Amino acid sequence: LTLSVAAILAEGATRYPGLNAITMNGQSTTYRDLWDQARAYAGALEEQGISEGDRVAVLIPNVTDFARTYYAILSLGATVVPIHALLKAREISYVLEDAAAKLLVCAAGLLGEGAKGAQHSGVRLLTVMDPDASAGNRLEDFAAQATPITTYLPRRAEDIATILYTSGTTGKPKGALGTHLALIEQTHSTLLNTMDIRQGDKLFGGLPLFHTFGQTCVLNTGLRIGAEVMLLPKFTAEAALDLVLDADIDVFFGVPTMYVALLEAGAQPEGKPEKLRYAISGGASLPLSVLDAFEQRFGSRIYEGYGLTETSPVACFNHVGREPRPGTVGTPVWGVDVEIADPAYPDEIRLLPRGELGELVVRGHNLFSGYLNRPDATAQAVVDGWFRTGDLGTKDEDDYLRILDRTKDMILRNGYNVYPREIEEVLTSHPEVSNAAVYGVPHEKHGQEIAASVTLKAGSSLSPEQLGAWAQEQMAAYKYPRHIQIVDQFPLGPSGKILKRELIAQFKNG
Ligand code: ATP
Repeated sequence: LTLSVAAILAEGATRYPGLNAITMNGQSTTYRDLWDQARAYAGALEEQGISEGDRVAVLIPNVTDFARTYYAILSLGATVVPIHALLKAREISYVLEDAAAKLLVCAAGLLGEGAKGAQHSGVRLLTVMDPDASAGNRLEDFAAQATPITTYLPRRAEDIATILYTSGTTGKPKGALGTHLALIEQTHSTLLNTMDIRQGDKLFGGLPLFHTFGQTCVLNTGLRIGAEVMLLPKFTAEAALDLVLDADIDVFFGVPTMYVALLEAGAQPEGKPEKLRYAISGGASLPLSVLDAFEQRFGSRIYEGYGLTETSPVACFNHVGREPRPGTVGTPVWGVDVEIADPAYPDEIRLLPRGELGELVVRGHNLFSGYLNRPDATAQAVVDGWFRTGDLGTKDEDDYLRILDRTKDMILRNGYNVYPREIEEVLTSHPEVSNAAVYGVPHEKHGQEIAASVTLKAGSSLSPEQLGAWAQEQMAAYKYPRHIQIVDQFPLGPSGKILKRELIAQFKNG
Protein backbone atom coordinates (compact mmCIF):
# COMPACT_ATOMS: atom_id res chain seq x y z
CA LEU A 1 0.00 0.00 0.00
CA THR A 2 1.51 3.31 -1.00
CA LEU A 3 -0.04 6.62 -0.15
CA SER A 4 0.80 10.08 1.13
CA VAL A 5 -0.91 12.90 2.93
CA ALA A 6 0.72 15.09 0.26
CA ALA A 7 -1.61 13.45 -2.28
CA ILE A 8 -4.45 15.49 -0.75
CA LEU A 9 -3.03 18.66 -2.29
CA ALA A 10 -1.47 17.02 -5.35
CA GLU A 11 -4.82 15.49 -6.31
CA GLY A 12 -6.64 18.68 -5.41
CA ALA A 13 -4.50 20.50 -7.96
CA THR A 14 -5.68 18.06 -10.62
CA ARG A 15 -9.31 17.90 -9.56
CA TYR A 16 -10.03 21.51 -8.68
CA PRO A 17 -7.13 23.50 -10.18
CA GLY A 18 -8.92 26.84 -10.44
CA LEU A 19 -10.81 26.72 -7.12
CA ASN A 20 -9.54 28.61 -4.13
CA ALA A 21 -7.78 26.36 -1.65
CA ILE A 22 -6.88 29.01 0.90
CA THR A 23 -7.93 32.59 1.46
CA MET A 24 -6.25 34.81 4.01
CA ASN A 25 -6.78 38.54 4.53
CA GLY A 26 -8.69 38.64 1.26
CA GLN A 27 -5.86 36.98 -0.71
CA SER A 28 -6.77 33.71 -2.33
CA THR A 29 -4.53 30.91 -3.54
CA THR A 30 -5.91 28.31 -5.95
CA TYR A 31 -5.30 24.59 -5.60
CA ARG A 32 -2.99 24.63 -8.60
CA ASP A 33 -0.95 27.54 -7.29
CA LEU A 34 -0.73 26.12 -3.78
CA TRP A 35 0.60 22.82 -5.12
CA ASP A 36 3.05 24.61 -7.44
CA GLN A 37 4.31 26.63 -4.47
CA ALA A 38 4.56 23.51 -2.29
CA ARG A 39 6.54 21.77 -5.06
CA ALA A 40 8.87 24.75 -5.26
CA TYR A 41 9.39 24.75 -1.48
CA ALA A 42 9.99 21.00 -1.65
CA GLY A 43 12.62 21.50 -4.35
CA ALA A 44 14.34 24.07 -2.15
CA LEU A 45 14.21 21.87 0.94
CA GLU A 46 15.62 18.97 -1.05
CA GLU A 47 18.52 21.10 -2.20
CA GLN A 48 19.06 22.08 1.42
CA GLY A 49 19.56 18.42 2.24
CA ILE A 50 16.11 17.29 3.35
CA SER A 51 15.13 13.84 2.21
CA GLU A 52 12.92 10.87 3.01
CA GLY A 53 12.57 10.17 6.72
CA ASP A 54 14.04 13.48 7.91
CA ARG A 55 12.12 15.52 10.43
CA VAL A 56 11.44 19.16 9.71
CA ALA A 57 9.99 21.42 12.39
CA VAL A 58 7.57 24.15 11.41
CA LEU A 59 6.90 27.25 13.48
CA ILE A 60 4.36 29.14 11.40
CA PRO A 61 0.99 30.61 12.44
CA ASN A 62 -2.23 30.16 10.48
CA VAL A 63 -1.05 31.57 7.19
CA THR A 64 -0.86 30.16 3.69
CA ASP A 65 2.83 29.43 4.16
CA PHE A 66 1.93 26.84 6.79
CA ALA A 67 0.16 24.80 4.10
CA ARG A 68 2.91 25.36 1.52
CA THR A 69 5.58 24.16 3.93
CA TYR A 70 3.51 21.31 5.37
CA TYR A 71 2.78 19.71 2.02
CA ALA A 72 6.30 20.43 0.76
CA ILE A 73 7.84 18.46 3.61
CA LEU A 74 5.36 15.61 3.23
CA SER A 75 5.97 15.45 -0.55
CA LEU A 76 9.61 14.64 0.12
CA GLY A 77 8.63 11.73 2.36
CA ALA A 78 9.89 13.69 5.36
CA THR A 79 8.02 14.17 8.64
CA VAL A 80 6.44 17.46 9.73
CA VAL A 81 6.90 18.52 13.34
CA PRO A 82 4.57 21.48 13.86
CA ILE A 83 5.43 23.65 16.84
CA HIS A 84 2.83 25.55 18.81
CA ALA A 85 3.08 29.19 17.88
CA LEU A 86 3.01 30.35 21.49
CA LEU A 87 6.01 28.38 22.71
CA LYS A 88 9.05 30.05 24.19
CA ALA A 89 12.63 29.38 23.06
CA ARG A 90 13.25 26.84 25.84
CA GLU A 91 10.13 24.87 24.89
CA ILE A 92 10.95 25.08 21.19
CA SER A 93 14.41 23.63 21.90
CA TYR A 94 12.80 20.79 23.81
CA VAL A 95 10.70 19.84 20.77
CA LEU A 96 13.58 20.29 18.28
CA GLU A 97 15.83 18.03 20.35
CA ASP A 98 13.21 15.45 21.29
CA ALA A 99 12.22 15.12 17.63
CA ALA A 100 15.83 15.33 16.40
CA ALA A 101 14.68 17.86 13.83
CA LYS A 102 17.07 18.50 10.98
CA LEU A 103 15.71 21.93 10.18
CA LEU A 104 13.32 24.53 11.52
CA VAL A 105 11.19 26.57 9.13
CA CYS A 106 10.09 29.65 11.06
CA ALA A 107 7.80 32.53 10.15
CA ALA A 108 9.48 35.92 10.48
CA GLY A 109 6.97 37.02 13.11
CA LEU A 110 7.96 34.14 15.39
CA LEU A 111 11.73 34.45 14.96
CA GLY A 112 12.14 36.08 18.38
CA GLU A 113 11.68 32.74 20.11
CA GLY A 114 12.21 30.47 17.09
CA ALA A 115 15.74 31.66 16.28
CA LYS A 116 16.83 31.37 19.90
CA GLY A 117 15.35 27.89 20.15
CA ALA A 118 17.04 26.74 16.95
CA GLN A 119 20.38 28.21 17.95
CA HIS A 120 20.24 26.65 21.38
CA SER A 121 19.60 23.23 19.84
CA GLY A 122 22.06 23.69 16.98
CA VAL A 123 19.29 23.21 14.42
CA ARG A 124 19.48 24.94 11.07
CA LEU A 125 16.95 27.72 10.51
CA LEU A 126 15.12 28.78 7.36
CA THR A 127 12.55 31.55 7.37
CA VAL A 128 9.37 32.36 5.52
CA MET A 129 7.71 35.76 5.19
CA ASP A 130 10.82 37.66 6.21
CA PRO A 131 10.91 41.05 4.43
CA ASP A 132 14.66 41.33 5.18
CA ALA A 133 16.71 39.45 2.59
CA SER A 134 20.04 40.10 4.26
CA ALA A 135 19.99 37.06 6.55
CA GLY A 136 20.28 34.82 3.49
CA ASN A 137 18.12 32.01 4.85
CA ARG A 138 14.75 32.72 3.27
CA LEU A 139 13.01 29.61 2.01
CA GLU A 140 11.33 31.74 -0.66
CA ASP A 141 14.77 32.71 -2.08
CA PHE A 142 15.93 29.11 -2.18
CA ALA A 143 12.64 28.13 -3.82
CA ALA A 144 13.10 30.76 -6.53
CA GLN A 145 16.47 29.18 -7.43
CA ALA A 146 15.65 25.50 -7.00
CA THR A 147 13.97 23.10 -9.40
CA PRO A 148 10.49 22.22 -8.12
CA ILE A 149 9.87 18.55 -7.51
CA THR A 150 7.52 16.98 -10.02
CA THR A 151 5.46 14.87 -7.66
CA TYR A 152 5.31 13.52 -4.14
CA LEU A 153 7.15 10.46 -2.88
CA PRO A 154 4.70 7.66 -2.04
CA ARG A 155 4.88 6.30 1.50
CA ARG A 156 3.96 3.10 3.27
CA ALA A 157 0.85 3.17 5.43
CA GLU A 158 2.83 3.00 8.66
CA ASP A 159 5.35 5.73 7.76
CA ILE A 160 5.23 8.79 9.95
CA ALA A 161 3.72 11.93 8.43
CA THR A 162 3.57 14.15 11.49
CA ILE A 163 4.80 14.33 15.05
CA LEU A 164 2.29 16.36 17.02
CA TYR A 165 3.23 17.32 20.53
CA THR A 166 0.25 17.06 22.85
CA SER A 167 -0.07 20.53 24.17
CA GLY A 168 0.60 19.30 27.64
CA THR A 169 -2.53 20.50 29.45
CA THR A 170 -1.61 17.69 31.78
CA GLY A 171 2.17 17.40 31.76
CA LYS A 172 5.33 17.43 29.69
CA PRO A 173 4.62 17.39 25.95
CA LYS A 174 4.88 14.03 24.22
CA GLY A 175 5.33 13.63 20.48
CA ALA A 176 2.47 11.58 19.03
CA LEU A 177 3.54 9.77 15.86
CA GLY A 178 0.88 10.19 13.18
CA THR A 179 1.04 7.72 10.31
CA HIS A 180 0.07 8.52 6.75
CA LEU A 181 -2.65 5.89 7.01
CA ALA A 182 -4.16 7.39 10.18
CA LEU A 183 -4.27 10.88 8.75
CA ILE A 184 -5.68 9.83 5.40
CA GLU A 185 -8.16 7.45 6.97
CA GLN A 186 -9.32 10.20 9.27
CA THR A 187 -9.68 12.69 6.44
CA HIS A 188 -11.78 10.24 4.46
CA SER A 189 -13.81 8.82 7.30
CA THR A 190 -14.60 12.08 9.08
CA LEU A 191 -15.27 13.80 5.81
CA LEU A 192 -17.25 11.24 3.91
CA ASN A 193 -19.26 9.74 6.69
CA THR A 194 -19.72 12.22 9.46
CA MET A 195 -19.39 15.81 8.40
CA ASP A 196 -21.06 17.40 5.45
CA ILE A 197 -18.31 19.39 3.80
CA ARG A 198 -18.76 20.13 0.13
CA GLN A 199 -16.64 21.30 -2.75
CA GLY A 200 -16.54 25.09 -2.77
CA ASP A 201 -17.54 25.42 0.90
CA LYS A 202 -15.82 28.18 2.84
CA LEU A 203 -14.44 26.70 6.05
CA PHE A 204 -13.58 28.79 9.07
CA GLY A 205 -9.81 28.46 9.54
CA GLY A 206 -9.28 29.94 12.99
CA LEU A 207 -8.27 26.73 14.74
CA PRO A 208 -4.50 26.51 14.91
CA LEU A 209 -3.05 24.40 12.13
CA PHE A 210 -0.25 23.10 14.34
CA HIS A 211 -2.92 21.26 16.37
CA THR A 212 -4.58 18.08 15.20
CA PHE A 213 -8.13 19.53 15.12
CA GLY A 214 -7.35 22.35 12.67
CA GLN A 215 -4.81 20.35 10.72
CA THR A 216 -6.89 17.25 10.04
CA CYS A 217 -10.48 18.44 10.21
CA VAL A 218 -10.07 21.79 8.51
CA LEU A 219 -6.93 21.77 6.36
CA ASN A 220 -6.61 18.16 5.20
CA THR A 221 -10.30 17.39 5.11
CA GLY A 222 -11.15 20.70 3.48
CA LEU A 223 -8.54 20.36 0.74
CA ARG A 224 -9.49 16.74 0.13
CA ILE A 225 -12.96 17.79 -0.99
CA GLY A 226 -12.20 21.04 -2.80
CA ALA A 227 -13.30 23.42 -0.06
CA GLU A 228 -11.78 26.84 0.64
CA VAL A 229 -10.04 27.34 3.98
CA MET A 230 -10.53 30.90 5.25
CA LEU A 231 -7.44 31.28 7.39
CA LEU A 232 -7.38 33.58 10.35
CA PRO A 233 -3.73 34.26 11.24
CA LYS A 234 -4.64 35.12 14.80
CA PHE A 235 -7.94 34.23 16.41
CA THR A 236 -9.86 37.12 17.88
CA ALA A 237 -13.58 36.99 18.43
CA GLU A 238 -14.07 40.15 16.38
CA ALA A 239 -12.14 38.84 13.39
CA ALA A 240 -13.97 35.53 13.62
CA LEU A 241 -17.31 37.30 13.77
CA ASP A 242 -16.40 39.39 10.72
CA LEU A 243 -15.55 36.26 8.79
CA VAL A 244 -18.76 34.54 9.81
CA LEU A 245 -20.94 37.53 9.04
CA ASP A 246 -19.18 39.02 6.02
CA ALA A 247 -17.23 36.25 4.35
CA ASP A 248 -20.06 33.77 3.98
CA ILE A 249 -18.56 30.97 6.00
CA ASP A 250 -20.38 27.68 5.34
CA VAL A 251 -18.95 25.64 8.19
CA PHE A 252 -17.45 26.92 11.44
CA PHE A 253 -14.95 24.90 13.46
CA GLY A 254 -14.03 25.80 17.03
CA VAL A 255 -13.22 24.78 20.57
CA PRO A 256 -15.75 25.84 23.23
CA THR A 257 -13.81 28.93 24.35
CA MET A 258 -14.09 30.22 20.76
CA TYR A 259 -17.86 29.81 20.80
CA VAL A 260 -18.07 31.67 24.09
CA ALA A 261 -15.93 34.50 22.68
CA LEU A 262 -17.96 34.61 19.48
CA LEU A 263 -21.19 34.91 21.42
CA GLU A 264 -19.78 37.76 23.47
CA ALA A 265 -18.53 39.63 20.41
CA GLY A 266 -21.81 39.04 18.60
CA ALA A 267 -24.03 39.92 21.54
CA GLN A 268 -25.60 42.80 19.59
CA PRO A 269 -27.66 41.10 16.91
CA GLU A 270 -26.52 42.44 13.54
CA GLY A 271 -28.32 39.91 11.46
CA LYS A 272 -27.66 36.23 11.10
CA PRO A 273 -24.92 34.81 8.92
CA GLU A 274 -26.41 34.02 5.56
CA LYS A 275 -24.67 30.83 4.65
CA LEU A 276 -23.54 29.20 7.87
CA ARG A 277 -24.85 25.62 7.57
CA TYR A 278 -23.52 24.31 10.83
CA ALA A 279 -20.68 24.48 13.32
CA ILE A 280 -18.42 21.83 14.79
CA SER A 281 -17.06 21.77 18.32
CA GLY A 282 -14.49 19.53 19.95
CA GLY A 283 -11.43 19.56 22.14
CA ALA A 284 -13.28 20.22 25.39
CA SER A 285 -16.82 19.89 26.57
CA LEU A 286 -19.28 22.38 25.16
CA PRO A 287 -21.64 23.82 27.78
CA LEU A 288 -25.27 23.27 26.80
CA SER A 289 -26.01 26.94 27.44
CA VAL A 290 -23.43 27.86 24.78
CA LEU A 291 -24.89 25.41 22.30
CA ASP A 292 -28.37 26.87 22.77
CA ALA A 293 -27.23 30.49 22.71
CA PHE A 294 -25.26 29.89 19.51
CA GLU A 295 -28.22 28.35 17.77
CA GLN A 296 -30.41 31.26 18.80
CA ARG A 297 -27.96 33.97 17.86
CA PHE A 298 -26.48 32.51 14.69
CA GLY A 299 -29.30 30.27 13.55
CA SER A 300 -27.16 27.15 13.14
CA ARG A 301 -26.47 24.08 15.12
CA ILE A 302 -23.25 23.06 16.75
CA TYR A 303 -22.38 19.41 16.30
CA GLU A 304 -20.07 18.20 19.03
CA GLY A 305 -17.39 15.56 18.62
CA TYR A 306 -14.65 14.09 20.74
CA GLY A 307 -11.11 13.20 19.99
CA LEU A 308 -7.47 13.42 20.89
CA THR A 309 -4.17 14.01 19.15
CA GLU A 310 -3.54 10.27 19.53
CA THR A 311 -6.72 9.40 17.60
CA SER A 312 -5.86 11.78 14.74
CA PRO A 313 -8.26 13.24 16.19
CA VAL A 314 -11.94 12.33 15.79
CA ALA A 315 -13.19 9.27 17.67
CA CYS A 316 -16.88 10.15 17.98
CA PHE A 317 -19.09 12.75 16.49
CA ASN A 318 -22.71 13.85 16.40
CA HIS A 319 -22.94 13.03 12.71
CA VAL A 320 -24.24 15.86 10.63
CA GLY A 321 -27.61 14.95 9.17
CA ARG A 322 -28.59 12.79 12.13
CA GLU A 323 -30.45 14.26 15.07
CA PRO A 324 -27.67 15.51 17.34
CA ARG A 325 -27.92 14.60 20.99
CA PRO A 326 -26.80 17.60 23.00
CA GLY A 327 -24.67 16.69 25.98
CA THR A 328 -23.22 13.67 24.14
CA VAL A 329 -20.20 13.58 21.86
CA GLY A 330 -22.09 11.45 19.35
CA THR A 331 -21.33 7.96 18.11
CA PRO A 332 -18.01 6.43 16.99
CA VAL A 333 -16.95 7.58 13.53
CA TRP A 334 -16.69 5.14 10.67
CA GLY A 335 -14.04 2.44 11.17
CA VAL A 336 -13.34 3.42 14.77
CA ASP A 337 -14.34 1.44 17.87
CA VAL A 338 -14.95 3.33 21.07
CA GLU A 339 -15.74 1.32 24.18
CA ILE A 340 -15.73 1.77 27.93
CA ALA A 341 -13.08 -0.12 29.92
CA ASP A 342 -12.63 -0.68 33.62
CA PRO A 343 -10.06 1.88 34.82
CA ALA A 344 -9.23 -0.34 37.80
CA TYR A 345 -7.18 -2.59 35.45
CA PRO A 346 -4.45 -0.46 33.88
CA ASP A 347 -2.59 -3.42 32.33
CA GLU A 348 -5.48 -5.04 30.54
CA ILE A 349 -8.65 -4.03 28.79
CA ARG A 350 -11.79 -5.23 30.51
CA LEU A 351 -14.73 -3.81 28.62
CA LEU A 352 -17.70 -2.77 30.71
CA PRO A 353 -21.36 -3.31 29.81
CA ARG A 354 -23.36 -0.48 28.24
CA GLY A 355 -24.32 2.32 30.54
CA GLU A 356 -21.51 1.77 33.02
CA LEU A 357 -19.06 4.51 33.77
CA GLY A 358 -15.44 3.85 32.87
CA GLU A 359 -12.50 4.91 30.74
CA LEU A 360 -13.03 5.52 27.04
CA VAL A 361 -10.80 3.30 24.91
CA VAL A 362 -10.36 3.65 21.16
CA ARG A 363 -9.29 1.24 18.41
CA GLY A 364 -8.96 1.75 14.65
CA HIS A 365 -6.77 2.85 11.75
CA ASN A 366 -6.88 6.37 13.13
CA LEU A 367 -4.61 5.54 16.08
CA PHE A 368 -1.18 7.11 16.36
CA SER A 369 1.69 4.66 16.34
CA GLY A 370 3.18 5.63 19.71
CA TYR A 371 4.95 8.45 21.52
CA LEU A 372 8.35 9.33 20.16
CA ASN A 373 11.16 8.15 22.46
CA ARG A 374 8.65 7.02 25.11
CA PRO A 375 8.19 3.27 24.95
CA ASP A 376 6.90 3.22 28.53
CA ALA A 377 4.28 5.90 27.97
CA THR A 378 3.26 4.14 24.75
CA ALA A 379 2.92 0.79 26.49
CA GLN A 380 0.80 2.39 29.19
CA ALA A 381 -1.41 4.16 26.67
CA VAL A 382 -1.91 1.37 24.16
CA VAL A 383 -3.04 -1.92 25.70
CA ASP A 384 -4.12 -4.90 23.56
CA GLY A 385 -4.47 -2.58 20.56
CA TRP A 386 -6.78 -0.20 22.47
CA PHE A 387 -5.76 3.37 23.23
CA ARG A 388 -6.61 4.39 26.78
CA THR A 389 -7.81 7.97 26.56
CA GLY A 390 -7.74 8.89 30.24
CA ASP A 391 -11.27 10.24 29.85
CA LEU A 392 -14.21 8.93 31.83
CA GLY A 393 -17.56 8.40 30.24
CA THR A 394 -20.44 6.15 29.32
CA LYS A 395 -21.85 4.60 26.15
CA ASP A 396 -25.59 4.14 25.82
CA GLU A 397 -27.75 1.58 24.03
CA ASP A 398 -27.67 3.63 20.82
CA ASP A 399 -23.86 3.98 20.87
CA TYR A 400 -23.88 7.64 21.97
CA LEU A 401 -20.98 8.54 24.22
CA ARG A 402 -20.95 10.97 27.08
CA ILE A 403 -17.76 12.35 28.56
CA LEU A 404 -17.85 12.93 32.27
CA ASP A 405 -14.34 14.18 32.67
CA ARG A 406 -10.70 13.40 32.41
CA THR A 407 -9.65 10.83 35.01
CA LYS A 408 -6.99 13.26 36.15
CA ASP A 409 -9.45 16.16 36.50
CA MET A 410 -11.84 14.22 38.70
CA ILE A 411 -12.00 15.66 42.20
CA LEU A 412 -12.03 13.39 45.21
CA ARG A 413 -13.65 15.38 48.00
CA ASN A 414 -14.21 13.75 51.31
CA GLY A 415 -14.54 10.33 49.69
CA TYR A 416 -16.95 11.50 46.99
CA ASN A 417 -16.09 11.57 43.29
CA VAL A 418 -16.91 14.97 41.90
CA TYR A 419 -16.90 15.57 38.14
CA PRO A 420 -15.94 19.18 37.33
CA ARG A 421 -17.80 19.12 34.06
CA GLU A 422 -21.15 18.63 35.79
CA ILE A 423 -20.50 21.65 38.00
CA GLU A 424 -19.34 23.71 35.02
CA GLU A 425 -22.65 22.90 33.31
CA VAL A 426 -24.54 24.25 36.32
CA LEU A 427 -22.42 27.39 36.64
CA THR A 428 -22.69 28.25 32.95
CA SER A 429 -26.47 27.90 33.16
CA HIS A 430 -26.48 31.04 35.37
CA PRO A 431 -27.70 33.85 33.10
CA GLU A 432 -24.76 36.13 33.95
CA VAL A 433 -21.97 33.58 33.63
CA SER A 434 -20.23 33.25 30.29
CA ASN A 435 -17.79 30.43 31.06
CA ALA A 436 -16.58 28.39 34.02
CA ALA A 437 -13.71 26.09 34.91
CA VAL A 438 -13.94 23.84 37.96
CA TYR A 439 -10.94 22.10 39.51
CA GLY A 440 -9.74 20.46 42.68
CA VAL A 441 -7.40 22.20 45.10
CA PRO A 442 -5.65 20.60 48.07
CA HIS A 443 -7.56 20.59 51.35
CA GLU A 444 -6.28 19.34 54.68
CA LYS A 445 -9.44 17.69 55.88
CA HIS A 446 -11.28 16.75 52.67
CA GLY A 447 -8.25 15.80 50.60
CA GLN A 448 -9.47 18.06 47.84
CA GLU A 449 -11.81 21.02 47.76
CA ILE A 450 -13.82 22.30 44.81
CA ALA A 451 -12.79 25.58 43.26
CA ALA A 452 -14.20 27.46 40.29
CA SER A 453 -12.95 30.29 38.11
CA VAL A 454 -15.67 32.07 36.24
CA THR A 455 -15.96 34.74 33.55
CA LEU A 456 -19.05 36.95 33.49
CA LYS A 457 -21.09 38.34 30.64
CA ALA A 458 -20.51 41.97 29.76
CA GLY A 459 -22.18 44.38 32.19
CA SER A 460 -22.63 41.82 34.99
CA SER A 461 -21.50 42.74 38.49
CA LEU A 462 -22.25 39.37 40.04
CA SER A 463 -20.06 38.78 43.09
CA PRO A 464 -18.37 35.49 43.96
CA GLU A 465 -20.53 35.34 47.11
CA GLN A 466 -23.75 35.76 45.15
CA LEU A 467 -22.74 33.11 42.66
CA GLY A 468 -21.61 30.82 45.48
CA ALA A 469 -24.95 31.17 47.26
CA TRP A 470 -26.79 30.48 44.01
CA ALA A 471 -24.60 27.44 43.28
CA GLN A 472 -25.25 26.08 46.76
CA GLU A 473 -28.96 26.02 46.01
CA GLN A 474 -28.44 24.13 42.75
CA MET A 475 -26.19 21.31 43.88
CA ALA A 476 -25.70 18.73 46.59
CA ALA A 477 -23.48 19.81 49.45
CA TYR A 478 -20.53 17.69 48.33
CA LYS A 479 -20.51 19.30 44.87
CA TYR A 480 -20.92 23.03 45.02
CA PRO A 481 -17.69 25.07 44.74
CA ARG A 482 -16.34 26.44 48.01
CA HIS A 483 -13.91 28.82 46.32
CA ILE A 484 -15.15 31.01 43.50
CA GLN A 485 -13.01 33.46 41.63
CA ILE A 486 -14.33 35.89 39.03
CA VAL A 487 -11.70 36.37 36.33
CA ASP A 488 -11.44 38.53 33.22
CA GLN A 489 -10.06 35.71 31.16
CA PHE A 490 -8.77 32.17 31.48
CA PRO A 491 -5.23 31.00 30.88
CA LEU A 492 -5.57 29.21 27.54
CA GLY A 493 -3.38 26.55 25.96
CA PRO A 494 -2.22 26.91 22.38
CA SER A 495 -5.30 25.19 21.02
CA GLY A 496 -7.62 27.48 22.97
CA LYS A 497 -8.41 25.13 25.86
CA ILE A 498 -8.57 26.33 29.43
CA LEU A 499 -5.43 25.37 31.34
CA LYS A 500 -6.78 24.07 34.65
CA ARG A 501 -3.25 23.19 35.74
CA GLU A 502 -2.48 26.92 35.77
CA LEU A 503 -5.64 27.81 37.63
CA ILE A 504 -4.66 25.28 40.30
CA ALA A 505 -1.13 26.74 40.47
CA GLN A 506 -2.54 30.27 40.77
CA PHE A 507 -4.81 29.13 43.56
CA LYS A 508 -1.90 27.53 45.42
CA ASN A 509 0.13 30.70 45.10
CA GLY A 510 -2.70 32.62 46.69
P1 ATP B 1 -2.98 16.75 26.86
O1 ATP B 1 -3.65 15.55 26.28
O2 ATP B 1 -1.53 16.61 26.97
O3 ATP B 1 -3.63 17.16 28.12
P2 ATP B 1 -4.30 18.41 24.93
O4 ATP B 1 -5.52 18.78 25.71
O5 ATP B 1 -3.78 19.41 24.01
O6 ATP B 1 -3.12 17.97 25.85
P3 ATP B 1 -5.62 16.97 22.93
O7 ATP B 1 -5.27 15.75 22.22
O8 ATP B 1 -5.74 18.22 22.18
O9 ATP B 1 -4.60 17.12 24.08
O10 ATP B 1 -6.98 16.84 23.71
C1 ATP B 1 -7.61 15.62 24.00
C2 ATP B 1 -8.50 15.78 25.19
O11 ATP B 1 -9.48 16.78 24.98
C3 ATP B 1 -9.29 14.54 25.50
O12 ATP B 1 -8.54 13.61 26.23
C4 ATP B 1 -10.47 15.08 26.30
O13 ATP B 1 -10.13 15.20 27.66
C5 ATP B 1 -10.66 16.45 25.72
N1 ATP B 1 -11.83 16.50 24.81
C6 ATP B 1 -11.84 16.49 23.47
N2 ATP B 1 -13.09 16.60 22.98
C7 ATP B 1 -13.91 16.70 24.05
C8 ATP B 1 -15.33 16.84 24.23
N3 ATP B 1 -16.16 16.96 23.21
N4 ATP B 1 -15.81 16.87 25.50
C9 ATP B 1 -14.98 16.79 26.55
N5 ATP B 1 -13.64 16.66 26.45
C10 ATP B 1 -13.11 16.62 25.22
